[in-house]
Amino acid sequence: MSRVAYVNGRYVPHAEACVHVEDRGYQFADGVYEVCEVLDGRLVDERRHMDRLERSLKELRIREPMSRAALGHVLRETVRRNRVRDGMVYLQITRGVARRDHPFPKGDVAPAVVVTARSIDRRKGGKVAEQGIAVITVPDNRWERVDIKTVSLLPNVLARQAAEEAGAAEAWFVDRDGCVTEGSSTNAWIVDIDGRLITRPADRGILRGITRTVVVELARREGLELVERPFTVEEAKRAREAFVTSATKLVMPVVRIDDAVIGNGKPGSIAGRLRDLFHGAAEIAS
Ligand code: PMP
Repeated sequence: MSRVAYVNGRYVPHAEACVHVEDRGYQFADGVYEVCEVLDGRLVDERRHMDRLERSLKELRIREPMSRAALGHVLRETVRRNRVRDGMVYLQITRGVARRDHPFPKGDVAPAVVVTARSIDRRKGGKVAEQGIAVITVPDNRWERVDIKTVSLLPNVLARQAAEEAGAAEAWFVDRDGCVTEGSSTNAWIVDIDGRLITRPADRGILRGITRTVVVELARREGLELVERPFTVEEAKRAREAFVTSATKLVMPVVRIDDAVIGNGKPGSIAGRLRDLFHGAAEIAS
C-alpha cells in the first residue's frame, strides 16, 4: 500500500513529500512536533497532544497554522489515507520558509505543516514488553527548555544511537546531580522496594509526556502510591522495577540499567498492570 503524507495543504505520495531547503525546521530546527498513538484507527489522547502542541508553539512564538479542529481533521485524514489501524501519526510545525537568517522572518510567513502516519505491529511491542528492555545512562547535555517539544533532537539522537551500539533500547539522560531526567524519547519511572512509584516532576527538566500524565492518573486510580521527585541512577539500579512511558512504547518495562539487573531481571508486576490498563485510562474518541 502506498503511503501518503500531508505537506502544507496537500496530500502527496510519501516518496515525493518534500519541504523547501529554506524551511526553518530544516535550517535551524525551528519547529515543534507531536506523536500521537493510533489505536484501532482512532487517535489516543488527541486533546492532550493538542494542548501540549499549542503550548510548544506559544513558547516559541510560532503562530498556529490552522484551528485545532482543522488540524484534527488533517491528522485523521492522514491516518485514514494510510489505512493505519494501529500505529502512530506524526505532526510537525515549523516557523515556515524564509531566507536564511537567525531572527524570526519579517512579515506574514506561514508556518509549515507536515503530517505522516504509519502502522506499528502491536504484537511486536507486546512481545518486547514481555521481555523488558535494557537502558544505558548518558550525561544530559541538552538545553534547559526540554519541556518544549521541539524538533531539535540531536542529543536525543546521539543518546539513542549510543544505546543501540550498547545493545540497549533506550538511553536515560542523567543530570549533574546524578539524577535521571528522562529517556531520549520516553519518560523514566522506578518502583521502590516499598512499591512506591517514583518519577521526576514535570518541570522544565523533562518533557511532560502525555503517557506519563495518563499513567499518573491511572496509578492514583489504582491506589498506588506515587511520588514525583528526582531519583538517582544508583537508586534506579536498586529499584524493584523500572519502566519507561511514551505514546509509541506505552508502558515498557526496563530490566537492565547499564550493567545492573533490575529486580529479578523480568518485567515487574506494577509495570505490567499499568501497561494492561493504560488504554482504559487514555482518552480515545469513538
Ligand atoms: N520525553 C521525550 C524526550 C520524548 O521525546 C517523549 C516522546 N515524545 C517522551 C518523553 C514521552 O512523551 P509522550 O508520552 O507524550 O509520548
